Amino acid sequence: MIQFISLIPLFLFFLVTHCSGANYYIDSVKGSDNNDGLSISKPWKSHIKAESATLAAGDIVYFKKGSAFSGNIRISESGTATKPIRLTSYGKGELPKFTNPSTLNASGNAIILGGDYIIVENLHFHDTPGEHVSGKIIMTRLAALRIEHGSDHCIIRNNEFIKTGQGIMSAGEHTLITENYLDGPNYALWRTSKSSWGPMGIHLNIGNQEVSYNTIKNFGTKDSPWGSDGGAIEIDCGKYHKKNIYIHHNYSEGNAGFIESSWDYDWPRHRQEIYNWRVSFNVCYDGQSWLFMLAPCTGIYFDNNTIARYNGFGRSQDACARIDVQGGMPVGKASGAHFRNNLFIYSSSPYTGNRSGGALKTANWYSKYKSPGNKYKGDSRQAGSGDPGLVDLENQDYRLNGNSPLRGKGINLSEFYKLDFRGQPLPKTGNWDIGAIQYNSTMPAKTLQPRNQLLPIPDNLVVLTFDDGNKSDFTNIPKVLKKHGFGATFYVTEGLGFLNRPENYLSWKQIRQLHEMGYEIGNHTQNHRNVINLKPEELAASLTHIDNRCAENKIIKPVTFCYPGFNNNHASVKVLEKHGFLFARRGVGPEYKDPGKGARGPAYDPKVDDPLLVPTTGYAGPDWKMKDLKWAIDQAKDGKIAVLCFHGVPSIEHPWVSTNLKDFEKYMQYLKDEDCTVIAMRDLAKYVNPNNRPHRADPYQPVRKRVSEMKKKSARNE
Ligand SMILES: [Zn+2]
Repeated sequence: MIQFISLIPLFLFFLVTHCSGANYYIDSVKGSDNNDGLSISKPWKSHIKAESATLAAGDIVYFKKGSAFSGNIRISESGTATKPIRLTSYGKGELPKFTNPSTLNASGNAIILGGDYIIVENLHFHDTPGEHVSGKIIMTRLAALRIEHGSDHCIIRNNEFIKTGQGIMSAGEHTLITENYLDGPNYALWRTSKSSWGPMGIHLNIGNQEVSYNTIKNFGTKDSPWGSDGGAIEIDCGKYHKKNIYIHHNYSEGNAGFIESSWDYDWPRHRQEIYNWRVSFNVCYDGQSWLFMLAPCTGIYFDNNTIARYNGFGRSQDACARIDVQGGMPVGKASGAHFRNNLFIYSSSPYTGNRSGGALKTANWYSKYKSPGNKYKGDSRQAGSGDPGLVDLENQDYRLNGNSPLRGKGINLSEFYKLDFRGQPLPKTGNWDIGAIQYNSTMPAKTLQPRNQLLPIPDNLVVLTFDDGNKSDFTNIPKVLKKHGFGATFYVTEGLGFLNRPENYLSWKQIRQLHEMGYEIGNHTQNHRNVINLKPEELAASLTHIDNRCAENKIIKPVTFCYPGFNNNHASVKVLEKHGFLFARRGVGPEYKDPGKGARGPAYDPKVDDPLLVPTTGYAGPDWKMKDLKWAIDQAKDGKIAVLCFHGVPSIEHPWVSTNLKDFEKYMQYLKDEDCTVIAMRDLAKYVNPNNRPHRADPYQPVRKRVSEMKKKSARNE
């Protein structure tokens, strides 16, 4: 989600409404440099062609996905505000790859922008430089993608930078760097016994730049005389001015610090002073110092950041949120550095540095990691200190709980900002919450990390689900799950006997309590009708009804779904897709026979199965016992996941799918003994990207394929 905030009037970005220029195509696999490059059927082969072509305003250069290019190109032409030049990708498959293995060739740059109004998007950069280099490197040039001084109004968006010692280096003004994913190496770019340059995600050499909505990870090294070096964003080289820089809505993790800006240390001849910066709504979980600010500050604001400093990521320097602001105009006055509405979670102290005491601080919250009783002893204008009341600090879920003391303790800065870290509108009046993520009871859990962040799927990964909201979901199940530390999803409905026989079903109060215990509440429709018999608008209304009941009961809006009676069809998948579900669970068929008293089913294979048609690998009942559970867990390997379903332990009204408590306890003990990872359906998102739908146009394709494979297999066995 991109939202421009006209914070600094100097930022003038443009909208691309139409393109009247030429289209060029480059395909390193099937192209030929003898082609004219002007159509998809006649692409060039070398990326050098993009450099030698005389590009004009409005031209687009398309690089074919699946291509790979090595060496350097420089784009020297300019677009205009309404007709930028664009470098982008086309086709299917992996983003086109760019690298430059030689640091001595154009400082290892893969692409250089030497003109104005150029957009670079949807490209992949990697391994520049591929290793520690020494000698002839020029730190203000070394980067995978470099914008030269004097090349203004460029946009770098939606690219990937993997193991690039410096991802983006920009000495151009009015630059926007947004929605990129950067994951760095851990070697020093350069070092001596006295000094070093660690790897850096984004390096700005001049002011008038905006860096937003990027994910920046793992830029840092221990190969340094200082113990560790590197970081997410470096703003250095004192040669050029450093006025008007806006850094917002970025996620950083595992870097050796978030921002570094020096005074005269790195560039003794060019002392730099910094003016009019805003660093706001970033979520930062890094080692070393959050800030390493040495430059004199004038009008520098750090607002509503969530700063988590309790994991040093193996680096030797301190893990606190450190600020060494020197000089200032003057520091300590409103014109210096000002911290507002930030959440500091720290392991040593929130601020260090010889001048940090002079910075202004308003309404920040201070939480010493694992020492909630530790009080901040700064001035009285702070919001407070102690346990911040977050959803799951240990797992980096920095959303606020309903009873978090951070709610309503921040000052209102709506004059400057419109959206919080997750894109929620910020209130125009009244107090704000502390930190980057404002409280919202109905906003679903969403991974903070947009992509490429998935955990590998372990063997014995089990999704545990309970359908229909039987009373025993509250009376019997939580105590068993709690003993083992298992996650689970409870699919609730107001159908079946919910309204007429409340003694057999969960009440909303109990559903809320399950939610508060940390279990997922999933949507099983208002009335438990067969979705195949519903019109799309009827199904949508039935889903919304459960959403609304959840909101009334302060339960997060369900993000996963379960088909009542296991019935599903293409039309219902479409409705679920539109409703925004991450995952939906069907039954064991058609691949496996389901006589209705418990049955085996396919393991969920995220490489082929649609996330809205996740199969059930086993559902319990009189015909499904311990041997079937063992079989299900046996399937959970090689990237496949076992999905289990229970209907009440016991189910009073549906004995044909009921499980007795003794058996259930044995099943759970078995999962424990087998070292299973047992999760709620929503937590699949840690392992599987639900936006990646292998057969979106025909989600039943893998189901049919499995049916025919199983037929062949059983024919062979007969
Ligand atoms: Zn059901």
